[in-house]
Amino acid sequence: MNLTTEVNLYMDELIDIRRHLHQNPELSFQEENTKKYIADYLENLGIEVKKDVGGNGLLGYIKGGNAGPTIALRADFDALPIQDEKDVPYKSTVDGVMHACGHDAHTASLLITAKILKQHEAEIHGNVVLIYQHAEESLPGGAKSMVAAGALDGVDYVFGTHTASHIEANKVGFCSGPAYAAADSFEIDIQGSGGHGAMPQLAKDPIVAASSLIVQAQSIVSRTIDPLESAVVTFGTFKGGNAFNVIADTVQLTGTIRTYLPTVKDQIKERLNGILNGIESSYGVKCHLNYHDGYPPVVNHEKETEWAKSLASEIDTIEEAFDFPPSLGGEDVGYFLQHVPGTYFFTGVGNEALKANYPHHHPKFDLDEQSLQNSVKLFLSIIEHSSDLVK
Ligand code: MN
Repeated sequence: MNLTTEVNLYMDELIDIRRHLHQNPELSFQEENTKKYIADYLENLGIEVKKDVGGNGLLGYIKGGNAGPTIALRADFDALPIQDEKDVPYKSTVDGVMHACGHDAHTASLLITAKILKQHEAEIHGNVVLIYQHAEESLPGGAKSMVAAGALDGVDYVFGTHTASHIEANKVGFCSGPAYAAADSFEIDIQGSGGHGAMPQLAKDPIVAASSLIVQAQSIVSRTIDPLESAVVTFGTFKGGNAFNVIADTVQLTGTIRTYLPTVKDQIKERLNGILNGIESSYGVKCHLNYHDGYPPVVNHEKETEWAKSLASEIDTIEEAFDFPPSLGGEDVGYFLQHVPGTYFFTGVGNEALKANYPHHHPKFDLDEQSLQNSVKLFLSIIEHSSDLVK
């Protein structure tokens, strides 16, 4: 079988589906119409669908006619609270909501993949689990609850893709090992004791304490973490005080911590707590830390990444399958990759001539729709060559 050549037959439908989803975006955890659209499409193809998996998530099952591994393919389908500012016929019809990260394209690609695979199920070696995931954009995300609800039961491998407007259309990027970081957030409340600006001896100034805390925290990464590892400690907000001649009573700080390794994350937390204890005794204030674990890092498995890259390099419309560098962004596909091997690759959709060169989450974000065939072709090629993966 040569499934990838069949994609040409469905390019119009692929673009129609993407545009339908683009015009009808829904926010994370509110994807009622989108999940119904996906379920109807799959059921019309005769694919067994499991609905409301860990929330609005859906699973589709295709059983191959031959023995082989079970491979999951994952796409997400939520949109963002952004006003669509594009001047195109398919712009969002929902005020203040937009598919500005390409999740419409991810789901359209996986629906066309499902259509072609269903027609060839007798020829497939192994089984396919189609994962349509809700709520990637908003914590706690949909992936964790889908895994808890059994999305990976019986699954041997998982593959997924994110579109990338910063990669040229018809190029596909692969990143072996850590690709995205663990993205945590924190709040720190510092309780001092307010008073007159002229009489600091009668107060405990939380602004001075918070300032010292922030400066000391800059040494966490530079003086605690192995310089060959990656980490970020960023304070995003600093709120305190109301008047020029008043010593504030409290200060609130928020920030984010990004790491690849759990051991590095633990070191940062420990140092941050140590600094807070020191601030309390130095300044006579009380510090309270609320630490929120975000998505785990996305760690791609080396063997499966190299394998998918070699398949991509054989696809006619992919000009280049290349090594793409990691970043400290976050993605909840990491939950799936914690459980089974696989890889999350980056489908280039950038095209300046089509005004598809805005960054993700920009109000004018758009993509080169023709390049979506590359995601579909690589998904099909992965299933077509599933026998390669048998351990
Ligand atoms: Mn995204």
